[in-house]
Amino acid sequence: MLSKAQQDRIVTFAQEIIRINSLSGQEKSVAEAISAKMRALDYDQVSIDPYGSVTATRKGLHAGPRILFDAHMDVVEVQDPELWSVDPFSGVIRDGKIWGRGASDMKGPLAAAVVTLGIVPRSEIHGTVIMSTSVNEEKHEGAALAKVIELTRPDFVVICEPNGACLGIGQKGRAGITLDVRGVPAHSSVPNLGENAILKACRVMQRLEEMPLPKDDILGDAIMVLIDGISRPYPSRSTIPVEFFMHYDRRLVQHETQDSVMEQIHNGLKDLPDWNAAYQQIKLPTYTGLEMDEIDFHPAWVMDGHSTWMEKAKLGLRKAGIEPVYGTAKFCTNGSYSAGVAGIPTMIFGPSSGMLAHCRNEHIEIAELLQGAEGYWGLASELGK
Ligand SMILES: [Zn+2]
Repeated sequence: MLSKAQQDRIVTFAQEIIRINSLSGQEKSVAEAISAKMRALDYDQVSIDPYGSVTATRKGLHAGPRILFDAHMDVVEVQDPELWSVDPFSGVIRDGKIWGRGASDMKGPLAAAVVTLGIVPRSEIHGTVIMSTSVNEEKHEGAALAKVIELTRPDFVVICEPNGACLGIGQKGRAGITLDVRGVPAHSSVPNLGENAILKACRVMQRLEEMPLPKDDILGDAIMVLIDGISRPYPSRSTIPVEFFMHYDRRLVQHETQDSVMEQIHNGLKDLPDWNAAYQQIKLPTYTGLEMDEIDFHPAWVMDGHSTWMEKAKLGLRKAGIEPVYGTAKFCTNGSYSAGVAGIPTMIFGPSSGMLAHCRNEHIEIAELLQGAEGYWGLASELGK
């Protein structure tokens, strides 16, 4: 159980890091603040990896497995600061809530986990707890955690994303797909001499809209939604466009693979000409200067809710006064790598509702933040047993 002084430490630290803007690839200042805080707490070792993620480890008094807690330290951009009721980087406390970009997603949960894991008595820890605060999650779910996992070799992973403090046993996956439709250019006074790429693309869009997608009893239906499109040339003057590019956001369910998703598109569009589909290739700078270069495909995953790990997680949450309720996430997290790619048992647990993420007037309830911190304490003391 956290003391009043320890609770205050969590709240103050959350405010401190909310005040530091940390867009993806620009996390240097917040990484410095977090590593300084870790060094002031009782961690054994604090290090920064080649991509800039900060990792701290802490060995318990008893033998046991390696449990990794991960929280990302990047935030999304504030689009409309003038429409916020507070300065988005104030970290101000009002009405029992801390306000600001990242309060919910996920500097609040990050602060709760970093401070709590740094003060849980070692006599309660079986094995080693590892805290990672990772970069670039908002641009690519998994690339930074892949590096952390390569370096720390955990047996179990807790993704600290806000999920209303439920026992998250799975999530939908995500893929970014580019569809490129080609036409034939011509002067727009004689359109019949060309083939209009936009009109051809409309048929592709229509077909994709009608295409049946997989259903999943646990995660819900797969989704494929058009999120942008642009023609070439753009803007066009008196020219029938030669090409039209579209980006689709594809939300994945269990058992979907890079091959199965592409095969489905190919089947759906097989009698239409002149299109090409590919996964987006994401090139991301990091603040250390190293570039990530990754395919934008992140599988879905679901864990067995009655495995030994999940039974221990339930005990940990109960110990913290939280009645465990199973949940799955509609959004994608770094767990897509740990569970979906690396096959490491993983759960999601974090205070605050995921619905507040990326919103105007983002905030976190202090009572929920502190309840989440108790949850991290319970998990740290039970998962290793
Ligand atoms: Zn997040």
